[in-house]
Amino acid sequence: MNIQQAFCPRCGAPSPEGGLCPKCRVAETTWLSCEPRVTAVSCPTCESLKRGGTWSDLQTERSELVAELALQAVGLHPDVRDAAVEVRCEDTRPNRTSCIVDVDAMLYAVPVHGTCTVEIVWRREQCDRCSRISGSYYEGIVQVRATGRKINAHEREAAAAIAEQVEDALQQAGERLSFVSSIEESRDGLDIVVGSRHLGQMISQQITGALGGRYTTHPRLVGERDGKALYRITYSVRLPYYRKGDVVVSRGMYYEIRVIEPRRLAVFDLQTGAARLMHETEIERRVGNVCEAESAIVAFVHGNTVGLLDPKTYQTREVSALPWLTPAEGMPVRVIRDEEQDRLIMVG
Ligand SMILES: [Zn+2]
Ligand SMILES: [Zn+2]
Repeated sequence: MNIQQAFCPRCGAPSPEGGLCPKCRVAETTWLSCEPRVTAVSCPTCESLKRGGTWSDLQTERSELVAELALQAVGLHPDVRDAAVEVRCEDTRPNRTSCIVDVDAMLYAVPVHGTCTVEIVWRREQCDRCSRISGSYYEGIVQVRATGRKINAHEREAAAAIAEQVEDALQQAGERLSFVSSIEESRDGLDIVVGSRHLGQMISQQITGALGGRYTTHPRLVGERDGKALYRITYSVRLPYYRKGDVVVSRGMYYEIRVIEPRRLAVFDLQTGAARLMHETEIERRVGNVCEAESAIVAFVHGNTVGLLDPKTYQTREVSALPWLTPAEGMPVRVIRDEEQDRLIMVG
C-alpha cells in the first residue's frame, strides 16, 4: 500500500481509500438542501388541491399534506443513506405554514445531522369543479318520468339515492367533473342535473336497471366551449306503468308483479302460488301495490275458508284459503283492498 495515499491530505487522519477522509468529504459535500418556499394552491370551497395545473381531491389529513409538501421541498445528495426525517410545522399566519425539517442520516459511513426550513404559502383558488358548479355549468339533465302516471315517493327516493351513489363512485374514481349539481322535483317526476355526460348515462342506466323502463338521449347544441361544439343532453328516463309489487287483475285472477322485463312481466299467481310470464296487454287493471298492503288479523280458519278482520271496518270477511299461504288464527296477514270488487286479497 502506498503510504502517501493512506492519509487524508487535508486533516492528516488515516484515509483507508486514499484521498480525503470520510469526515473531510462530508464537510465538502452539500448533502441537504431545501427550497425555502413552496406554494400550495387549494380550493376554499371543497379543499381540492392543485398540483402541476391539475386539481385533485384531497385524500389525506391536512397535517399529512403539510408534511408531504415540506418533504417535497427537501433535496438529499444521492450518497446519503438511511435518512430519518422529522418535520415540525407551525401555522405562522393564515396563509403561511413554517416547517422545520430535521434529517439524521449516514454519508460515507459518517453519521450526519442537518436542519432546514421550508415555508409553505397557501393560495386559495376556486377549483375546476367548484367554478363549474357556481357558474351553473352542466352537460346533461336526467329526467325521470313514468308512463301514464306520476312517479311515486319510493321511485323518487330510489332515483335520487342512485344519482348520489353513482356520483360518489365516479368522484372516487377521479372523475372530478362528474358531479350532481341539483336534484329537483318537478310536477310529475324528478330532474337530476349532472356535470358530465358519463354521469348522466350511468345514472340513467342504473335507474332503469333498478326500477325498470328505459331511457332515450336527446342532445341539444347550446354553443361552443374552447372551439368545440357544446351539447347538453337530456336523458329521458321512462319508468314503466307497472311496478314491481303491483297487484293486477287478468281474466278475473289476481297476480303480483315480481320482475319487470323489457317485454314481459314475471308474475306470481296469488290464487295458486305459481309463477308465470305475462304480457302487459293481458292486464285488465291495477289494484294496488304490496308495499301499500294493510295488515288484517286472521279471525278463524275453517277448511277452505279464512275469516279476516277488515282493518277498516272491523267486520269479519271471508276469503278462500290459498294453497301457498297458511294463515294462523290471531296472526296478521298482509292484504290488498280491491275497491272495485270490494274484496280483500291476501298477498303474504
Ligand atoms: Zn480529513
Ligand atoms: Zn372546489
